[in-house]
Amino acid sequence: MTVHPDMHGEVAGRLAALEQRYTTTRRAVVETLSRAGRPVTIPEILSSTPLLPQSSAYRTLAVLIEAGVARRVTGDGDHGRFELAEELSGHHHHLVCEVCGTVDDVPPSTRLERALDEAARAAAEDQGYTVTGHRFDLVGRCPTCR
Ligand SMILES: [Zn+2]
Ligand SMILES: [Zn+2]
Repeated sequence: MTVHPDMHGEVAGRLAALEQRYTTTRRAVVETLSRAGRPVTIPEILSSTPLLPQSSAYRTLAVLIEAGVARRVTGDGDHGRFELAEELSGHHHHLVCEVCGTVDDVPPSTRLERALDEAARAAAEDQGYTVTGHRFDLVGRCPTCR
């Protein structure tokens, strides 16, 4: 899932700003994150990225996170889940299974966005904040765990 018209160009630019090259390995991981359509774990990234050594996976993700290309959604170590930054993947929310830990993307809906924006603005303005965005996860049980 990607909404950016020139995803690889954007990623290359962000890496170049850190004097990092957009290597084949980094490109392969970006492709995997883009194809997944939901936040994925390191083992999932390894199984869907041929020829990616486990030792490179952690280092590659660290560089992509530092460049603002990817972000950690939940968890630590092997339980961590990663996705592309919203500037590349588009604004969305997550459905988190409290039993198995699976995380799915929820596509944005005008109705939900409007309700969240209004509620957030009202709540934050009382404390002198200007709201520029939001992160919102729905927690429950996935179809397998229900
Ligand atoms: Zn589940
Ligand atoms: Zn939203």
